[in-house]
Amino acid sequence: MAEIVRNAFVIGHPIGHSRSPKIHGHWLKAYGLAGSYEAIDVAPGDLAGFIADLQENGFRGGNVTIPHKEAVFELVDKIDPAAGQIGAVNTLWFEDGRLWGGNTDAHGFAANLDEYAPGWAGNGPVVVLGAGGAARAIIHALKERGVRDIRIVNRTLERAHELRERFGDGVSAHRLEAAGELLSDTGLLVNTTALGMHGNEGLPADPAALPDGAIVTDIVYVPLETPLLAAARGRGLKCVDGLGMLLHQAVPGFERWFGKRPVVTSELRNLVMADLGVRA
Ligand code: NAP
Repeated sequence: MAEIVRNAFVIGHPIGHSRSPKIHGHWLKAYGLAGSYEAIDVAPGDLAGFIADLQENGFRGGNVTIPHKEAVFELVDKIDPAAGQIGAVNTLWFEDGRLWGGNTDAHGFAANLDEYAPGWAGNGPVVVLGAGGAARAIIHALKERGVRDIRIVNRTLERAHELRERFGDGVSAHRLEAAGELLSDTGLLVNTTALGMHGNEGLPADPAALPDGAIVTDIVYVPLETPLLAAARGRGLKCVDGLGMLLHQAVPGFERWFGKRPVVTSELRNLVMADLGVRA
C-alpha cells in the first residue's frame, strides 16, 4: 500500500518573512509526526496551476498569505463561513475529495484572549482601531462571541463604514477624533492598525480614557510591547499582546493536515519570539 503523504505549505509572494514554518515545524517535531511544512514562493500568475496540482504533488493543504488571500476564493470548491464573512482565505485543506478554503484568524484572536483574559467577550462594548483585513477577522470573532456593541474607529472613515455594512447589527463606524469619547465606557480596546509597529511608533488611541476594568490588546507583535500596551499597562489595565493570535491561528490548519490538535505552549512562544528578535 502506498504511504499516505502528509505535507503542507505556506504560499505567498514574497514568502521569506513567514513564521509559519517555524510554528508547524516545531509541532511536527514535538509530536514526532512524519510530514513536512514548507514555505513556497508562488507568483500571482502561477497560483491557479499550483492549486490545481496540490494533490498530485502530495499536499494535504496549507496556508495562504499576501497577495493570494482573495484570489484563492475562485480556485477552491468550498468556503467555510469564517472565510466567507471575512472575505479572505488563509487555510486550505481537502475534505471528502473537495478543496476547502477557510480562515483561522478569528479563531486565533479569540483563543489568545481566552488564554490571557478569560471572560473578555462579556466585558462591555468593544472599540476596534482600524478597518483593514485584520479588523474584518476580529469583528467576525467578536460577533461569533456575542459582542453586541462593536465600534470601529478608522483614519479613513469610509473603510469603517464599509465594515459596518458588511457586518450589520451592533457595528458602528467612527472617525479617529471620536475615539476619546467612545473609550470612556469601553470594555475591550483592540488595535488592528499598523501604528505601533517598529518604524511606525505612534499611539493609535490614548488608553487614559478607558475605564479601570478595561482590557487592551494589540495584534501588532513586533515589538511585543507596543506603545499602546505600554501605556495601558502603565495605567494598570489588563493587556494581551498579539503573538498569541499568530500562534493560535495555526492550530486548526495543523489539525486538519496532520491529524493532531496541537497545543500552544510557552516553549513555542519562546521559539517564535527568538526568531522574531522580540523580548517579553
Ligand atoms: P491593512 O489591511 O493594510 O489595514 C491597515 C489599517 O491600519 C487600516 O485601518 C489603516 O487605516 C490603519 N493605519 C495604517 N497606518 C496608519 C496611521 N499612520 N494612522 C492611522 N491608521 C493607520 O493591514 P491588516 O492586514 O489589517 O494588518 C494590520 C496589522 O495587523 C499589521 O501590523 C499586521 O502585521 C497585524 N496582524 C497581526 C496578526 C496576528 O496574528 N497578530 C494577524 C494579522 C495582522 P486607513 O484605512 O485609514 O488606511
